[in-house]
Amino acid sequence: MTDIKVKTVSKPGSLPDESRLGFGAYFTDHMFVMDYETGKGWHDPRIEPYEEFSLFPAAMVLHYGQAIFEGMKAFRTVDNRIVVFRTKDYLQRFNRSAEILCIPRMDADLLEQALYQLLKQEAHWVPGRLGTSLYIRPFVIATDPYVGVKSSDTFKLFIILSPVGAYYASGFNPVSIKVEDKYVRAIHGGIGEAKTPANYAASLRAQVEAKEEGYSQVLWLDAAERKYVEEVGTMNIFFKINGELVTPKLNGSILSGITRRTVIEISREWGVNVTERQISVDELFEAHDRGQLEEVFGSGTAAVISPVGELSWKGRKIVINNNQTGPFSQKLFDYVAGLQYGNLSDPHGWVNEVTKL
Ligand SMILES: *Cc1c(COP(=O)(O)O)cnc(C)c1O
Repeated sequence: MTDIKVKTVSKPGSLPDESRLGFGAYFTDHMFVMDYETGKGWHDPRIEPYEEFSLFPAAMVLHYGQAIFEGMKAFRTVDNRIVVFRTKDYLQRFNRSAEILCIPRMDADLLEQALYQLLKQEAHWVPGRLGTSLYIRPFVIATDPYVGVKSSDTFKLFIILSPVGAYYASGFNPVSIKVEDKYVRAIHGGIGEAKTPANYAASLRAQVEAKEEGYSQVLWLDAAERKYVEEVGTMNIFFKINGELVTPKLNGSILSGITRRTVIEISREWGVNVTERQISVDELFEAHDRGQLEEVFGSGTAAVISPVGELSWKGRKIVINNNQTGPFSQKLFDYVAGLQYGNLSDPHGWVNEVTKL
């Protein structure tokens, strides 16, 4: 165990009304911080008050975007434990993103220890209503004060925490999605597989235009042929076609979602045939015309499962399952939520107990 220094706030805050949390607007009293310097490695792990910090205007992250992040969740279970879902898998992906962005590898065991120590300290900030959680945002930024392009020699790592509300305040709401045929998000050989701000910067213009046209998200296609489905803005995508579950295979330009992995593993346990392969939009629309496109849903940490009610491509719109949440999407959501809130016992070792209150 590494010794983590702690500096606490003089006046701790408290959790706002759980029905008004929204997403990402509130932050807890403390954060975890650690520094990196070439020759010295990662050092000085500490828990500090959540507050502003200083950075030179020349700090490299501000100019060239050398940064990575993660997004995971802690839950308050029905029997009042604080748990984190699949911690090690998220931290492993954090290091994979680091590798892609030339950011020095972090000690995943230390990060896990630091996260749990921080969560114990902030346990009163974890909301308990079904659908609410404490969103965990680890991130790393390049801090060299230098306006030339290179990989930085200094970095700062943070873990900040944000209590978030139920994604579906009034039950599931199937979303309407535009299949994007003009812009692309990432390409083979690029950095699409990393959780890094640049991928979001690349997605904003398409997202804004889709919103103006009345869609809630875009579905990205492969950048080379604009033919094969990749993923949604912050979610991976699944199609239930004639009883089988199909999702695009990981090809280097798609993010390897932990929720995607969870959905695949659970579905297989339930005896559903799951294939990870290339799937073209043509094939989807044809399956719909044959009446075989049964359900479409996105998977991601924020919503777990997000049913898709409509898909629009080059002016053609198809409606999926009468714009209603399908039974399989619902069953998946209920099962994962059951694990996360402790209503169901966890046979997979995915639910990590941090503390019992
Ligand atoms: C985070 C993210 C996802 C979903 O991954 P989860 O681990 O399931 O939250 C999907 N696509 C992109 C681009 C993402 O950044």
